Amino acid sequence: MTAIARKNMTPAFDVVKVRADFPILARQVHGKPLVFLDSAASAQKPRAVLDTMTRTFETEYANVHRGAYYLSEKATTNYEAAREKVRAFINAKSAAEIVFTKGATEAINLVASSYGRLVLKPGDEIVLTALEHHSNIVPWQLIRDLTGAVIKVVPINADGSVSLDAFAKVIGPRTKIVAVAHVSNVLGTVLPIEEIAELTHKAGAKLLVDGCQGIVHEPIDVQALGCDFYAFSGHKLYGPNAIGVLWARNELLDAMPPYQGGGEMISTVSFEKSTWADLPAKFEAGTPPIVPAIGLGAAIDYLSGLDRVAAVAHEQDLLAYAMAELPKVPGVKLIGTAQHKAAVQSFIMDGAHPHDLATVLDRSGVCVRAGHHCAQPLMDVLGVNATARASFAIYNTRADVDALLAALHKARQVLL
Ligand code: PMP
Repeated sequence: MTAIARKNMTPAFDVVKVRADFPILARQVHGKPLVFLDSAASAQKPRAVLDTMTRTFETEYANVHRGAYYLSEKATTNYEAAREKVRAFINAKSAAEIVFTKGATEAINLVASSYGRLVLKPGDEIVLTALEHHSNIVPWQLIRDLTGAVIKVVPINADGSVSLDAFAKVIGPRTKIVAVAHVSNVLGTVLPIEEIAELTHKAGAKLLVDGCQGIVHEPIDVQALGCDFYAFSGHKLYGPNAIGVLWARNELLDAMPPYQGGGEMISTVSFEKSTWADLPAKFEAGTPPIVPAIGLGAAIDYLSGLDRVAAVAHEQDLLAYAMAELPKVPGVKLIGTAQHKAAVQSFIMDGAHPHDLATVLDRSGVCVRAGHHCAQPLMDVLGVNATARASFAIYNTRADVDALLAALHKARQVLL
């Protein structure tokens, strides 16, 4: 083993082997090795996912659920097997509780539109936090405007954490829905979901968790978390895009009206009246994202084959290293320093706009995201227009952090 390989290993986690599973990591950008630090926006895909999707298209593709022939049955079996893989991955009670959507955004819109319309009356309250992604703000504004409900916002602390006291102050007798990120896509803050669930349920309300970043950075057990809805996207979990998941307790999904109408979601249709299919089909109108769902199943198989506890430790090592080293670059300031964080780090550099910074870093092969990260209200709270953000995945190494640091030093010379 080379010295570099040894430097990049934590005991039970072989990052060199993991990297070899992701073909794109072998390519160069601008003549430099690719240093991909934007997995919070969308993660790269392991060969297992790419191969599964190609094989499906090449040999096992047909529409699902309605064919009486071999290929359609095969595609249906694979599609439903993917649902079961998701169920096991998040420890849901039944596969009927797993609704495939096109992403987390659609999953949250589904809940806001269907559950929101079911329960919200004028003056009822929807509780969000100041660190939410637009996907967990705007759907609630749409249903607020339709129902006369009110949105209340739990403030964050200076380090990006959110205290339970702040939740306790905002959640009240009129609260019907609390909707929070599991992990902030900007700050990396991990929210205390179990405790928030307790406060929510004490008030007789339901808790939706936007798990887009949470599902990536720690093993998830939706029953242990105690939430009522958990939403995430496949493409951040090393799977394809155009697939997402809404998990909700069976009794809630059962009580909720359909979100979209069309084929697949009905039991009977006449011009006078239609009746709905059983769960989860009631919420899967039209031809579903067949191959993306099967690809997500392959991503889950891949992750399940890793020691995920060791993977979390590996990511945490990268985060700690980045948090220690980034502020040593003159003018660089960390944004988001809560105690309990996942491997996402925003930062700014004095005198350099994050967009310019990201463009210059790209010339060194380093991909970071810059902008408001679909969290404009959070930018207002932080008093910045934008940040640069490095996010770490299972395939990143300390050498990637070193490349970021070296590129930042170079950027200072170019930009300042
Ligand atoms: N919530 C969070 C916390 C996110 O990070 C994202 C993606 N950046 C979303 C929601 C939206 O996910 P998608 O665009 O895949 O629907």
